[in-house]
Amino acid sequence: MEAVLLYFDDCPNWQQTASHLDRLTSEFPDLKVTRQFVDTDEAAQRLGFLGSPTVRLDGVDLFAASDTPVGLSCRIYMTPNGPAGSPTLEQLRDALASASGRVEESSRMRCSCCGEQRDMGSLAALLCHDDIKICKTCVGWLMQQAGGVDVTPTLPVSDMDAAEEFYRRAGFEVRRYDDGFAFVTLDDQSVFDLGVDTRATPTHNAAGCYIISADTDAWHDRLVAAGLPATQVEAKPWGMREFSLADPSGNTIRIGKPLGPGADA
Ligand SMILES: [Zn+2]
Repeated sequence: MEAVLLYFDDCPNWQQTASHLDRLTSEFPDLKVTRQFVDTDEAAQRLGFLGSPTVRLDGVDLFAASDTPVGLSCRIYMTPNGPAGSPTLEQLRDALASASGRVEESSRMRCSCCGEQRDMGSLAALLCHDDIKICKTCVGWLMQQAGGVDVTPTLPVSDMDAAEEFYRRAGFEVRRYDDGFAFVTLDDQSVFDLGVDTRATPTHNAAGCYIISADTDAWHDRLVAAGLPATQVEAKPWGMREFSLADPSGNTIRIGKPLGPGADA
């Protein structure tokens, strides 16, 4: 679980909250704390900043009170010792404990766009409003609305049965259209199609496709566990962390993700 401490520099109390949170990371092993500096009124409005310090766990305010105004101001907490500029260590501990129980309970959430309940893993939050979470399907729809293109290549395969078996083992869904054509999807999302071409053999076939996935390492583990011939995951000079595997017809499927700044190879 990820806690974000939002603060501004002139606030005399955020460092106390920061030190409480640092201490609590030893009690909550899966707690990761980051800080977000809010420096302008405009940023405060954009982030729905309820004052400094504010702590959000997985995007949800730990101490939300409906009457707290948005703005670049100090935040007042009601503590057992009276009003204070920071919640106490005990209050933070209790709030984290109950919120983390809640997080585990609700591994599914409603998409803010289509309203369907989705797995958290298939939802992404907006950069400017992390309480707005959009599912994969709606992101695809938005991409089209924004004029983006959606590409599905056709990979040539000489043996459709062998290809079907290979891609199912790799975790894709394969749906035959007829003897010579099949759709390969992942969670209802089109990835590529397969078309019969008897010339497609490992020695002659140079076709392939590139799958960009934030879960590159999980993909690798899964494919290796399925006994498929995946190469090592490596940082490449073109800025990707990737690996590849070849299907029985010689198509090279590369799976990778962009190397972030300071990413370890
Ligand atoms: Zn949706």
